[in-house]
Amino acid sequence: MTDFSLALSEDQITVRDWVHGFAVNVMRPVAQEWDEREETPWPVIEEAAKVGIYSLDFFASALADPSGITMVLALEELAWGDAGLCMAIMGSTLAMAGIMGNGTPEQAAEWIPACFGTPDDVKVAAFGVSEPDAGSDVSSLRTRAIYDEAHDEWVINGTKTWITNGGIAAVHVIVASVDPALGSRGQASFVIPEGTPGLRMGQKFKKMGIRASHTAEVVLEDCRVPGRCLLGGKDQLDEKLARAREGVKTSGQAAMATFEATRPYVGSQAVGIARAAYEYALDYAKERRQFGKAIIENQAIAFKLADMKMRTDAARLLVWRAAWMAATHQPFLGGEGSQSKLFASEAAVHVTEEAIQILGGYGYVRDYPVERWHRDSKIYTIFEGTSEIQRLIIARAISGVHVR
Ligand SMILES: Cc1cc2nc3c(=O)[nH]c(=O)nc-3n(C[C@H](O)[C@H](O)[C@H](O)COP(=O)(O)OP(=O)(O)OC[C@H]3O[C@@H](n4cnc5c(N)ncnc54)[C@H](O)[C@@H]3O)c2cc1C
Repeated sequence: MTDFSLALSEDQITVRDWVHGFAVNVMRPVAQEWDEREETPWPVIEEAAKVGIYSLDFFASALADPSGITMVLALEELAWGDAGLCMAIMGSTLAMAGIMGNGTPEQAAEWIPACFGTPDDVKVAAFGVSEPDAGSDVSSLRTRAIYDEAHDEWVINGTKTWITNGGIAAVHVIVASVDPALGSRGQASFVIPEGTPGLRMGQKFKKMGIRASHTAEVVLEDCRVPGRCLLGGKDQLDEKLARAREGVKTSGQAAMATFEATRPYVGSQAVGIARAAYEYALDYAKERRQFGKAIIENQAIAFKLADMKMRTDAARLLVWRAAWMAATHQPFLGGEGSQSKLFASEAAVHVTEEAIQILGGYGYVRDYPVERWHRDSKIYTIFEGTSEIQRLIIARAISGVHVR
């Protein structure tokens, strides 16, 4: 097993600095513009593809790091650049994780490259679980997939909501119920290829933060996909359903497995936002003078900064631990993946709010970035499992009690 180490390797430092350069030179200069435009920032995604950050090769090599740290390093830098742009670049990896987690090697080889397209023809991908009446409770999905044996096709009907890249993606991975009586154990994931009739975008949401990332409803009306689009294949699904009907315990469910694997990645983005706000507020507090001295000379301000630094660093340590545990295939007996996401997201909300306080009135206006970072930070306590759900997961893991 690869040892846990806080000393970064030369390769990790190279990747971190390369992504940081992209954040400084490409993301930061246009972050405010894309927040205001609230549109998909195709030129930024294209630039990320051109330099190699938005590519299967990059994600595959980052994920191949046996220590697990390269990916979280890169994500922290991208979110430090801008969380909305980061999500626009990273949203496709949710679908990628869904395919990797549930598909056969042949399906992964066919569909994962299609999630990204090529630098000359960039594509994005979407992963759709959430529904209007099934958010935290993913066992109650209403989207139905029914097998049409005569044509070897699946017919999917339902509405997905809050879907990152929903309706604009070349590949939609959709989680649907094939046997509602079995709850989450009766669900399966399907690839919906680009241009499939019956899939359309519903409303596009106007958001508080991460506004450069597209979020919309996905409506599926008699959407037919070939049998090979069922991730994992029909035989595996039939076996899974038979086990569930017999009441045999299984280790998990498709959607939850995907979210669990991505939690330290979500946490690392929150760390990036917190670090951006901390650094900005520190510089500002040294410059800003009131009552004849720099405001940092007041303990009330300096102690805030001490606390912001401590929370950001503590969050990063939890993220690195969870990323290392995931890469080294250790069981999350203490809910360590959830701990990392929960602590980092709440730290980011706290740190960005304190940054606004340190900037005073300047923190509250759009001429300065800290109000945007605060708006951006809030989503991290909601998506991929709310803070309350993370606490449930941790409480159940440490107690063995099915806490509700
Ligand atoms: C910008 C954005 C992007 C998103 N991207 C995607 C995406 O790409 N794909 C996707 O599938 N989904 C996506 N989501 C959906 C997101 O994962 C859900 O919003 C989230 O899971 C919460 O579901 P909900 O909004 O229905 O809230 P609800 O589940 O209705 O929760 C409402 C409140 O009740 C609390 N609550 C619920 N159950 C419990 C309980 N048992 N105990 C204690 N408290 C509880 C919650 O913590 C929350 O505070 C996205 C959401 C947003 C806003």
